[in-house]
Amino acid sequence: MINHNISLEYELNSGWLNPWVEALHQGSALAWQCSACDSASFAPERTCRCGQNSGRWHPLSGIAVLESRTDGADGSFALVRFIGSDTSVVVALEGIDLGQTHGQLMPYKFSDGGVPRMVIGPLEGVS
Ligand SMILES: [Zn+2]
Repeated sequence: MINHNISLEYELNSGWLNPWVEALHQGSALAWQCSACDSASFAPERTCRCGQNSGRWHPLSGIAVLESRTDGADGSFALVRFIGSDTSVVVALEGIDLGQTHGQLMPYKFSDGGVPRMVIGPLEGVS
């Protein structure tokens, strides 16, 4: 067996998702709202479940309801549904105790490898 290490630098362009990504950096949640049926998706779905692929950005409060949760050696994660969204998304949890049902989107966090990830923290103003 021959082992080689390769290094690859690349940039990913966020394309039509740019407004969503920029909002995430600020800790704001933007949903994509279908122009035909008004269904809102977060994370944005380019093609709605009704088949339409046009829509508009719709700001959400950033508050999410935890639907299911897992805790392990790599941290805590949950499937959440942001209030105002008709779809769910997986996020990392920080400071969300067992039994808490809601969280607030935090500004983008970066993993050790520099990969951005969505993180939910405690609701603002709630101790
Ligand atoms: Zn639709």
